[in-house]
Amino acid sequence: MPKPILSIDMDGTLADSHSKWLEIAREKYGIRAEKKDLVVYDFWELLGLENEEACLDIFREAWKDYRDIPPLSYDVSEIVGKLRNTYEVCINTACVGKPDEVRSWLKYNRIAYDSFHFCKTKEEKFSVKSALHVDDSAELAEKFALGGNDVVLISQPWNKALIGKLAAYGNITVASNWSDVLEISQKRGF
Ligand SMILES: [Mg+2]
Repeated sequence: MPKPILSIDMDGTLADSHSKWLEIAREKYGIRAEKKDLVVYDFWELLGLENEEACLDIFREAWKDYRDIPPLSYDVSEIVGKLRNTYEVCINTACVGKPDEVRSWLKYNRIAYDSFHFCKTKEEKFSVKSALHVDDSAELAEKFALGGNDVVLISQPWNKALIGKLAAYGNITVASNWSDVLEISQKRGF
């Protein structure tokens, strides 16, 4: 029997690209903010950036130096490796970095996977028929859940305020870290 698909987002889920984003924003625009200050998903307005494109440009720049982007936690490589025993792991991302940069980041951080789904839009993410999806976007988590998918939402400052609302969905579970993701996925009983 084929393994069920576990799809995983990149920015804010596997890769801590927001840390590198903040570093560039400080150097380039003098923005002094910390990760805890990013309390909404579309935080560019909050930080006084002109428009979303300026925000995405900083992410693009961050991905050019992909080696400087840390994984969300030190154990991500090991945990994704364990998840591959049970699941077919699909990297499902609409990252603004180039596909080669994202693939190189995964290799650099020794994160093995089975398939790579690089999307031009967030909506394209839904075409992966995953048994379980892991993301940091509350909006996407809700959409995946409405589509009948089980979702793990990685807790981040930009989704904290929405966690209460998402608790109403029986198929969204919040994870504080990647150890939680492993535990939640194992409890599903595959
Ligand atoms: Mg993300």
